Amino acid sequence: MRVIVDSARCVGHARCLALAPDLFEWDEETDRARTREGADLADFGDLGQSAIDGCPEGAISLA
Ligand code: SF4
Repeated sequence: MRVIVDSARCVGHARCLALAPDLFEWDEETDRARTREGADLADFGDLGQSAIDGCPEGAISLA
């Protein structure tokens, strides 16, 4: 299952990167978080879900 960061909702406080740095990365151009290329939630389990649940802006979704 793919993880998607909505850059329009993301405010960039990087909680998701702190929780799951192998799933998310920083986009220097937009100054927002983004999902690492090819990252799949199945590879990160509870850690990935915690990062999704921990986004206060609701900017992370699954597809
Ligand atoms: S926790 Fe949410 S709002 Fe904060 S950087 Fe990550 S995706 Fe953006």
